[in-house]
Amino acid sequence: MTGAMPRRVLISGASIAGPATAYWLNRYGFEVTVVERSAVVRHGGYQIDIRGTAIDVVKRMGIYPELSAARVKARTITFVDKSGKKVASLNTDDYVSQVNPDDIEMARGDLTSVLYAHTKDDVEYVFNDSIESLDMRADGVEVTFTRGAPRTFDVVIGADGIHSNTRRLVFGPEEQFSLHLGYAVAIFELPSNPAYDLPPTVYNVPGRVAGFGTQVPGGPAQAFLAFAQQDHGSVREADFEGQCAMIARAYADDGWKIPEILKGLPSTEDLYFDNVGQIRMDEWTRGRVALVGDSCFAPAFLSGQGTSMALIGSYVLATELASERDHKTAFAEYERQCRDFMVKSQNLALHSRSTILPRTKKALRKRNRTLRLLPILKRLGLGGILGRATREASNAFILPELRSEPRQKVG
Ligand SMILES: Cc1cc2nc3c(=O)[nH]c(=O)nc-3n(C[C@H](O)[C@H](O)[C@H](O)COP(=O)(O)OP(=O)(O)OC[C@H]3O[C@@H](n4cnc5c(N)ncnc54)[C@H](O)[C@@H]3O)c2cc1C
Repeated sequence: MTGAMPRRVLISGASIAGPATAYWLNRYGFEVTVVERSAVVRHGGYQIDIRGTAIDVVKRMGIYPELSAARVKARTITFVDKSGKKVASLNTDDYVSQVNPDDIEMARGDLTSVLYAHTKDDVEYVFNDSIESLDMRADGVEVTFTRGAPRTFDVVIGADGIHSNTRRLVFGPEEQFSLHLGYAVAIFELPSNPAYDLPPTVYNVPGRVAGFGTQVPGGPAQAFLAFAQQDHGSVREADFEGQCAMIARAYADDGWKIPEILKGLPSTEDLYFDNVGQIRMDEWTRGRVALVGDSCFAPAFLSGQGTSMALIGSYVLATELASERDHKTAFAEYERQCRDFMVKSQNLALHSRSTILPRTKKALRKRNRTLRLLPILKRLGLGGILGRATREASNAFILPELRSEPRQKVG
């Protein structure tokens, strides 16, 4: 590496954007350290999608076959109303084939495991720690940690999620960048129990969803809840009991099997509970620090694009850093190339026509009608109507070529 090219990179966050960026930087010959607040890579979460251009990224990483093998099997999702009556159904294969047959839907934890497995031998992972302060100097960034000894890096990358610590330290409080969409989301797993042994079912009333089901009969059940929550402060401030109480209150009047599902909530070990919101920033980089993934362009699950965006952003950021230029030019190029695509993907979450969470009576009726008509539309060659917006957004980016041949690590 020559001149002002950075060499030692610190990444904060070991979920998706962090290990993906680490993968590329390591392949380009950088010395990479990843610091993660948790004791291990967190494997919780629901299904995520890798779509469109992000598929090209995982193919270039060489992990497509592995991810493909971990695909969630095709299944029929039953949609029910308040009384538990079936209103529509959807074969997931029908939907995926309308979006892009190469796309992958898989458990979030399987993706984080693959990314970690492909980086852990070449990248230094430091768990149970977090950046305490960043002091940007002309020739590097002095970093102090809550536990470890201070160290100096050429560049620091914040891949620490929607509530990014790196963003707070460099750009200031979250409020100025956060767009609350008026919902909260809870995702959790319930132990194997005959009472929870249901095929995938989605319960909707306008503005509220409860998805539930086992991947394999007799296996653990996953629950996915999203509901209107205007007071976004309380979601983050509540402790575990408070969060369970908040969720129970939101579904207190609901029917179907909701009361049984919620009985299992206090026994879950890894509750993911957060506001449904986005991060919108005018700049994603400052000095020697860059943000990537949810930390700077979180789109909210309603977009279905968060993971794909993180994978694409990681690839572009690392590829630009690997080019024969200084980090400033690389950062500017990363922002220039990615911004329109990220904003377009974020905008997917803003309309009320979501398949999973229709927000009005009218949108719910329309969703049910479309699902019921889908088999006929497919026969007429019009099946693409359901995934059209997602298909367009997920393919609306052309990856830059690898800047230079991947090479052996220097030093
Ligand atoms: C446990 C979990 C479950 C999730 N489940 C879903 C889901 O079911 N559906 C969905 O659409 N999205 C889910 N997400 C979000 C999803 O992973 C992201 O939207 C997207 O994939 C972009 O990933 P990211 O790496 O940018 O951010 P994230 O996946 O949010 O990862 C951020 C990482 O940074 C770490 N971190 C946070 N603060 C610090 C700190 N101070 N120092 C060091 N590390 C820190 C976190 O522990 C985490 O590992 C989940 C995220 C997590 C952490």
